[in-house]
Amino acid sequence: MWLGLDDTDSLLGGCTTLVFHQLLKDLPCEYGEPRLTRLWPFANRRTRGNAALSVEIFCGEEIIPWLDDYWKSNIEPLSGKIGESEHSDRKQFPADPGMVLFNKQPDEIHYWNAVRGEISFIQGGTQWGGHGRIGAAASCSWRAHNATWEGIAWTNEERYVSEELLTKVTELHGTFLCRDPRTSRGLISPRGNSPILFGVRAINPDIATTATNILLEDCSDVIGHRVFKTNQSTGDHIEREYTHTVENIEIKKGGHVIINKSIICFSDSGDMNILCQWLESGDEISCIGLEYEGKLHLEGIRVLNSVSKLRPMCQCGTRMKSMGKNQGSRCPKCKTKSPNNWELSERIPPFKNWVQPPYDKRRHLAEDLSSYHKS
Ligand SMILES: [Zn+2]
Repeated sequence: MWLGLDDTDSLLGGCTTLVFHQLLKDLPCEYGEPRLTRLWPFANRRTRGNAALSVEIFCGEEIIPWLDDYWKSNIEPLSGKIGESEHSDRKQFPADPGMVLFNKQPDEIHYWNAVRGEISFIQGGTQWGGHGRIGAAASCSWRAHNATWEGIAWTNEERYVSEELLTKVTELHGTFLCRDPRTSRGLISPRGNSPILFGVRAINPDIATTATNILLEDCSDVIGHRVFKTNQSTGDHIEREYTHTVENIEIKKGGHVIINKSIICFSDSGDMNILCQWLESGDEISCIGLEYEGKLHLEGIRVLNSVSKLRPMCQCGTRMKSMGKNQGSRCPKCKTKSPNNWELSERIPPFKNWVQPPYDKRRHLAEDLSSYHKS
């Protein structure tokens, strides 16, 4: 059977991963690998990281009364908690937890719909609670063909993780996104009000476990820790790559760049923003991102072709002038003629291949495209 949970957290610091961890600890039956699924970042009522949880449990329907009790005493009371956000103008919703139980894994299409767009409730199984049932069901339907792992630890104390051990796990082969290579700032601990002490990401469960155990040697006292299989860094939210010819570039006051009135690159996107500001009309680009309210929010871009068009240069060192359409050019100084109206030269972009926002500005779902840089 498949069990899913979502939407137990609010800005007050509830945390769905921790609620799920405690549920698994208490569960009176065997269970498979716990899964943390990030869903569409623009979902209407998304929680902060928009993560839902699920697990395969090995039991029959006799579990239902137990889950029913657990729901009423441990999860339902979290409903309606809401916090005021000081640094987010996005409307905050009260937690509206949902739990689902299915005899068999729901159709995979629910996952793809939920990671790439807005979805609603699905029927079937046994369901508890409210809005959270949507993400919970979507997480259950994830097939996990493409996955990464994250070792998470929770604490009630102030966050402390040893810098030295952070370096050790950063250097461990198979971990990723531990430290920002540009700023050397650690990326494993969230900011703000959350019981998560750290989340360390890895390409397989063994490395996630090893890295978690290393960090646990010197950090705040933890409530618990657990490794989750995740869809983070899979790029599952990206449906396709778009190719465009740049027609116009608009650079806003704060540094946001708008390409062809339809693609937005935010000012805090680092190299990606530098590249976008470099673009000129006529450039051919390939991009990925999420479409939202009629605009593509850029998550990756590469220049396919960029050619500058100038009048031919005369041997005397003077730029020639056109003698009229298809009439060739002439040097204004020594009157030498050229049959060509234009001279084309390749512009070399400041970054080759894919450029993405800095690590700390990427979505949880964003795939690291740096492997493309190597090819
Ligand atoms: Zn000349």
